[in-house]
Amino acid sequence: MSDMKPKKKEVAAVTPPKEKATPKNTKGTIAKCTCVSVYQDSVYGKGMRAKNPTSSGGYKCTVCGAK
Ligand SMILES: [Zn+2]
Repeated sequence: MSDMKPKKKEVAAVTPPKEKATPKNTKGTIAKCTCVSVYQDSVYGKGMRAKNPTSSGGYKCTVCGAK
């Protein structure tokens, strides 16, 4: 006689897919700035700059750092 134990069912741990990084446009804002950036002029428009949110609640220009 063999003592067969039922094989323990292995539950595959399914890891949820990582959330996609949000596009940078939804993170910051586009606002006018006085600094010069030919690249951002062509991307966002003349004088328009991508700005990142600051810890103080405002926005900081990604080119010159002005708030
Ligand atoms: Zn700027």
